[in-house]
Amino acid sequence: MWHSALDRLTCPACGREYDADALRSLCTCGSPLFAEYDIELAAKSFTPDAVRDRSPDLWRYRELLPVRDPDQVAHLGEGMTPLLPLPRYGRQIGIPNLLVKDESLLPTGSFKARGAAVGVSRAAELGATRIALPTNGNAGSAWAAYAARAGLDALVVMPADAPEVTRRECAVVGARLYLVDGLIADAGALAGQARDRGWFVVSTLTEPYRVEGKKTMGLEIAEQLDWQAPDVIVYPTGGGVGLIGIHKAFTELARLGLVDKMPRLVVVQAEGCAPIVKAFEAGADTSEPWPAEAASTIAFGINVAAPLGAPLVLSAVRASNGTAVRVTDGQILDELAVAARADGLFFCPEGAATLAAVRQLRESGWLSGSERVVAMNTGTAVKYPEAFTAEPELLPAGSTLPDLD
Ligand SMILES: *Cc1c(COP(=O)(O)O)cnc(C)c1O
Ligand SMILES: [Zn+2]
Repeated sequence: MWHSALDRLTCPACGREYDADALRSLCTCGSPLFAEYDIELAAKSFTPDAVRDRSPDLWRYRELLPVRDPDQVAHLGEGMTPLLPLPRYGRQIGIPNLLVKDESLLPTGSFKARGAAVGVSRAAELGATRIALPTNGNAGSAWAAYAARAGLDALVVMPADAPEVTRRECAVVGARLYLVDGLIADAGALAGQARDRGWFVVSTLTEPYRVEGKKTMGLEIAEQLDWQAPDVIVYPTGGGVGLIGIHKAFTELARLGLVDKMPRLVVVQAEGCAPIVKAFEAGADTSEPWPAEAASTIAFGINVAAPLGAPLVLSAVRASNGTAVRVTDGQILDELAVAARADGLFFCPEGAATLAAVRQLRESGWLSGSERVVAMNTGTAVKYPEAFTAEPELLPAGSTLPDLD
């Protein structure tokens, strides 16, 4: 039946271990903590045949997820998003084997739903009743929705220039919402104050289970490719949790003997905010904060000037033989339009950034063209009405349709 093989929490920086069945934040050394599973125990029931017959959501990977009691699962239909070929666009840019993992269909319209589903369910299981987080928008709408689903209170702080629609999403599910005249780090400082007042703070990587939810992107890609790793996965990187999660997924699948290689992982950031790319190019182990007044991109989900997880992202990218590239907002918007016309897929700006990166990596020769490449479309484009336009001709009622040739 249902069981989680969660064993303990470990610190990747200092090696300390913690009991996993208590609410925890960071390690005493300040590093994020990771969930560790009993792989032998998981292997008894986590087999391709067993998984195939389970419900089409991310809880099909329950052995490798932290929630022990199925009744604690806050479920809104998260997971099993399509992995689709981009045949025309792929041929156009010289990568015929290009696939997109389309996360735009998830509850609240972004892959943040994965981290929120697992993070909220586990926090509730461990006794939290009130959660607080800073967000650039999408994480707030996802965690607020799952908190409502689980019956928890949510407090969300976001920069005043985060997308308006994400504010409304938080408000409609009953979260307490504050705007700050500043960046995500300023929102983080405010949300952190709620800790002393009895709220469980769930900012990026400060609790161990958001990354477990995001890990399921990697598990799904492997299962959808019949338990094979693609050659390359291209990820629009803000805080980097998704990339860390995908790396963790393939590491655990390798330990289970289900995949035989690690995909090369590619970090994509926007020219206007690229602290991790800069660190990668400099050969550094962590990133320097991007100057706050300069941090800007239309791809708001990756506008993170000082990512706490930078060391983990950099080591995952290097261990996988990957790379890091930056793209301009102009390239993002161009690629969004080209891909939409070619193959009918509507990328959000963060997703379109991965396409601009694939084009760049093909041109530079880093990609030869024979690889199977997965681009992550992390959210729905409809939250960014400013990223695309339409100026149809207005016809008076009763008029005749113009010549169609
Ligand atoms: C949050 C977000 C990202 C960046 O995710 P990380 O895993 O934190 O790097 C990318 N795209 C969208 C649409 C997002 O909302
Ligand atoms: Zn530590």
